[in-house]
Amino acid sequence: MGAGKFPELIVQEWVSKDPSWEALKESGQIEPPTPAPVFRYCPLCYECFLAHPGSDSELTNHIARVHGKEHIYLTVDGVVVRDSCWLSKLIRKCELVLLNVPELEVQIQAGGKEIARFRTSKTCSLTRLLSPTKSFEGKITISVMGGPRKREYTIYRGKQPEFRSVELDKAIQEIPNSLMAKTSLDLANFYEVHQQLGTNELEQRYLKGMVEYYHSLLLEKQGHTVGVRDRIEAAMELLLPFRTKSANAARWALALRMNCFSSLKSCPEGTYFAQARSFFYDAAEKLTETPAVESSILVNPLTEELLSALRAYYGGDSMEVLAYTSGIFRRAKQLDANDEIKLTLLEARTHRRDGNRERAREVYSRLVHHHLFGPEADKFVRHS
Ligand SMILES: [Zn+2]
Repeated sequence: MGAGKFPELIVQEWVSKDPSWEALKESGQIEPPTPAPVFRYCPLCYECFLAHPGSDSELTNHIARVHGKEHIYLTVDGVVVRDSCWLSKLIRKCELVLLNVPELEVQIQAGGKEIARFRTSKTCSLTRLLSPTKSFEGKITISVMGGPRKREYTIYRGKQPEFRSVELDKAIQEIPNSLMAKTSLDLANFYEVHQQLGTNELEQRYLKGMVEYYHSLLLEKQGHTVGVRDRIEAAMELLLPFRTKSANAARWALALRMNCFSSLKSCPEGTYFAQARSFFYDAAEKLTETPAVESSILVNPLTEELLSALRAYYGGDSMEVLAYTSGIFRRAKQLDANDEIKLTLLEARTHRRDGNRERAREVYSRLVHHHLFGPEADKFVRHS
């Protein structure tokens, strides 16, 4: 896409706090600054794609290929909408894509009032149904109901709701501060008390997302394994539209934990998580910039160790890398399958780089069936 223009003005990941944007708002221009590049998440998983104006063919191909036979999603002016988007112009085209689903009920609301309700089992255009909302500014909700397939999409038309990340971040900072000192925290109470700080849905969603993120860390710290994954997924889902420093860091941390490496694509060089992108997503042998030693967000201890091991890897210190990985493997009573994959790959590549073929082959052989690293492992096992 051209970095200089983004004609669609549909910005799914619109919520950031950029002073230049504030200036634009003050001057009466309500469009956000040109987001370049824009990353778009699959509506059905956390895979991330580069957005192309007016066409999401890469993403729609992914949906058809990976999510196969059955799916539901919404497109607005040719762009796949995960759950919400903000649109400053008129909606030119809106389509609800349904494939191999039973008959479902669709309800469209504008400003809380129902404007359409119908049943369908096939892909349908909503453009005409949305025409009464031509001059409407506010929230349009499209709900798809029927059994477990409930989906809700929100289109904000016109001015983006207020979002004060500085105030919210300041309040949220209480959590990591306490979390480092204590093993118990009343997060529900925190959310209850601070909910009034979030003056609209967007701000409340942000607060909730950050609370869910820290809830996953708290559960882990307390030694729970059950429920952690749910918290991780809830946090990821809630934080997807936000582009603040904390939300970015939380999303990268979560993506790394879930092995959704494509979500690390937006991580800039030289930052704490960039080395994870270089290693797991780009399979890069070298880094162009020295990675940051500290994270801007509190991460779980294993992620911290993994990133220290990656720094050692890119620093060329194989002994240290293997000390980290064997230490983790030795200590962990029950290692998460995702972490096991990451550590195994790190060991395999370290042995390979050191010319320790036998050991590399042995470690790589544990990865031959992995959907991402299988081809690399298989090639080494067969040809070394
Ligand atoms: Zn997907």
